[in-house]
Amino acid sequence: MVKRQKIYEGKAKVLYRGTEPFTFIQHFKDDVTAFNAEKKDTYEGKGVLNNIFSEFFMKGLSEIGINNHLIRRINMREQLVMACEIIPLEVVVRNISTGSISKRLGIKEGHVFSRPILEFYYKDDKLNDPLVNEDHILEFEWATVQELEEISSIAFRVNDFLSGLFFGAEIVLVDFKLEFGRPLDKSNSKVILADEISPDSCRLWDKKNNKRLDKDVFRLDIGNISEAYEEVAQRFNLLPKRVSVQNNKMKNNIFSLE
Ligand code: UDP
Repeated sequence: MVKRQKIYEGKAKVLYRGTEPFTFIQHFKDDVTAFNAEKKDTYEGKGVLNNIFSEFFMKGLSEIGINNHLIRRINMREQLVMACEIIPLEVVVRNISTGSISKRLGIKEGHVFSRPILEFYYKDDKLNDPLVNEDHILEFEWATVQELEEISSIAFRVNDFLSGLFFGAEIVLVDFKLEFGRPLDKSNSKVILADEISPDSCRLWDKKNNKRLDKDVFRLDIGNISEAYEEVAQRFNLLPKRVSVQNNKMKNNIFSLE
């Protein structure tokens, strides 16, 4: 077997050179980290679910004309994506206050914003991904004016789309993080949505009882992350077929799928 060329390894994913020009293979690991990797663990099968989630949300976004890096899922843990240079920004959209904004500004957890709030963080683990504004982004040339306009417009459209989709599954989309890239194939000149959309990068609360169904379960040690992610997958009918038929056996089987 030909050894694949690793382009980059992050906390939850690995990128390999793709099989076609201007492509990467995005591999989802089972590792989960929080607080800039100070807290770490592994949950068997988390990568399988995040691969399926990200495919599902990115496909939905393509259908409403939001360009993103997904070409196709190629196996249980991997997807073929358009090769991009990642813009070094974490783009966060917030509908409800929690997490860092509640801490930073003393806003009561659960406060519903009158309109979504957009924030940018500079992607740099050494600096702990600091909050930055548009002047910083332009001054340090992390993105251009046109790119920032495009990124902001896409981020709000993604919020509208995902909020509706989750609402239909009785889940509240509290906030989420997006990343954007510049395609290496220069015939495609605009920024596109990249990275992943999954319960690792969103805050999802059960509409009935505000139960956390996302990575906060791990961050805050408030339950079983596998159960939370499976619950979300089940609401969208995304659990791999072999296991969704036998609920009682699911715990043993789902996470061993490769
Ligand atoms: N987020 C993420 N990766 C990060 C930081 C944040 O995916 O490195 C997501 C997080 O899951 C949440 C949103 O971005 O959905 C806002 O996170 P927040 O700024 O509240 O950060 P935290 O409280 O996690 O430090």
